Amino acid sequence: MPELVFFSGTMDCGKSTLALQIAHNRDARGLQGVIFTRDDRAGTGKLSSRLGLVTEAVEAPEGMDVYAYLVDQLSQGGKADYVIVDEAQFLAPAQIDQLARIVDDLGLDVYAFGITTDFRTKLFPGSQRLIELADRIEQLQVEALCWCGARATHNARTVGGHMVVEGEQVVVGDVNTAAEVVGYEVLCRRHHRRRMTSASSRAASLSPDVLPVTPA
Ligand SMILES: [Zn+2]
Repeated sequence: MPELVFFSGTMDCGKSTLALQIAHNRDARGLQGVIFTRDDRAGTGKLSSRLGLVTEAVEAPEGMDVYAYLVDQLSQGGKADYVIVDEAQFLAPAQIDQLARIVDDLGLDVYAFGITTDFRTKLFPGSQRLIELADRIEQLQVEALCWCGARATHNARTVGGHMVVEGEQVVVGDVNTAAEVVGYEVLCRRHHRRRMTSASSRAASLSPDVLPVTPA
C-alpha cells in the first residue's frame, strides 16, 4: 500500500541527507521520483544537504497545487514512481492534503521531510497537518546535539548569538540584517527554556559576574 510518511526531526538532524539517500536508492532501481522543496538553502528548485550533496527539485511555492502538478506530469507522459518533499514544514496545510491525495488517488508513496516546531516551540502549520494525515511518522535517528551534549529537540533562532523568541515564523536561511546576524541553533529543551545558546554559555563561563538570564 502506498503511504504518506512524515520524517520529522530538528534542524541539523540529517533530513535532507536522508531524502537524497532515498532518492538515490530508488533511482538505482530504475524508479523515478518527483522532488518538491521550498526555500532550500541552496536556492530555488534545489534539494541540498549540509554534507554538500545537491539535486534538482521542483520548487513548491505558496498556492501551488502539488496534486495537479503530478496529474499534469503523468498525463503528459511523464513518469513518477514516488514523491519526496523536503522542507515540508513550509508547505500550506492545503498542500499537505494534496500530498495525501497523491497517495490515495495516484497510488504513489510520498516521503515528506520536515521540522515539527519553530523557534517558539510551536508547530508549523504544514507539520501539524502532516501529523494529522500521515500514515506513518518517523523520528529521525541521527540525533542533533545541544552544546551541552544532550539530545537537541528544539530549534532556536539567534540574533547576534542571543536566542530570540519573537518574530516571523519563517526567516529563510541565515539572513544578515543591517547590524546583526540571524541564525539558528539546535538546543535541548532545558537550554531552550533558559535561552542559553552556545555563545551565551561561553559568555557566562567567561564572566562569572554575569548570571545567565533564566526566564520564568
Ligand atoms: Zn543543552
